[in-house]
Amino acid sequence: MPSGIVAEEPNFRMLAENSGDVIMQIGPDMKARYVSPSCTRLLGWLPEEMLGHGPEVFVPPEHLQGIAAETALMLAGADEGAPLALEVRRKDGTTVWVESKARIVRDPVTRVPSDFVLIMRDITERKQLEEQLRALAMADGLTGLGNRRAFDEALDREWRRTVRIGGKMSLLLLDVDRFKGFNDRYGHQVGDDCLRAVATAIKNALHRPADEAARYGGEEIAIILPDTDADGAVEIAERLRVAIEKLGLPHADNPEGGGYVTVSIGSATALSRSGGTISMPEGLLLAADTALYKAKHKGRNRVEVALLLAPKDPDAA
Ligand code: GH3
Ligand code: MG
Ligand code: MG
Repeated sequence: MPSGIVAEEPNFRMLAENSGDVIMQIGPDMKARYVSPSCTRLLGWLPEEMLGHGPEVFVPPEHLQGIAAETALMLAGADEGAPLALEVRRKDGTTVWVESKARIVRDPVTRVPSDFVLIMRDITERKQLEEQLRALAMADGLTGLGNRRAFDEALDREWRRTVRIGGKMSLLLLDVDRFKGFNDRYGHQVGDDCLRAVATAIKNALHRPADEAARYGGEEIAIILPDTDADGAVEIAERLRVAIEKLGLPHADNPEGGGYVTVSIGSATALSRSGGTISMPEGLLLAADTALYKAKHKGRNRVEVALLLAPKDPDAA
């Protein structure tokens, strides 16, 4: 190692060798010149296995360009790179989330860049916490289903995918029958229990992980069914309707449901075709809502259906 390099300085070494962070010194050729011992714990490699190798050993290919750009910025004058959170590869093929930060080392006299010092910290726990917080922010507190925000995001993602690939998708809007009367007779608390039971029945009756049920409003639940045609959607809607009826929850003010808690469901399917005209996702939502309204008017405890042609090109939507 040439003289004047930071890893040769006793203070640097002491810091690096006692730190839980991985500290690397990287030459202008992007090859590691020094790697601190904690590398073995974080990445599974011995420091000597990393020496002489570039970042491609542990950095996934999609991040290499970003790192090259950051390096160029530093060479052009910035002393520190922006902190970067990324998932890196360990020796055994598993991955670990790290935050990495690079700093350039310049010759004290000429200010010419000589090396980079890279610090990597394990942020797995922080990532897990972030994921838990995200899940919490997307969950409905009463039912445990997705909340309105989760629904809006899922619908947005799914309709764009559908029109991009010229595919199909369905949306169910489910509403508890005569629920105001239920609350009036049994009390709001029992009403909440009822909603929880309905939500659980829905969760249990949906089998595909991609199907997404969310609390759309007070006692309305929306279910997004990706890649599902009208027949499939009706089959699922009917399965949900029956599952809820079979809970056998007494509802004396629901004559159409034989004195039990029932739901009405509007099912709308969008087939994405060139020449399709409905605007997505508003057209799909409106159609499901109209079908639900029809189900209510036809006597509740039933499924009504709408079929739509959506455009194929997202820009035309
Ligand atoms: P319909 O069969 O036409 O749907 O009649 P409905 O009485 O269910 O319809 P409406 O929309 O008039 O009433 C919905 C009621 O749902 C109003 C409110 O009392 C009740 N509700 C909405 N959200 C909640 C909730 O979180 N908990 C409870 N317990 N009740 C709720
Ligand atoms: Mg309602
Ligand atoms: Mg209702």
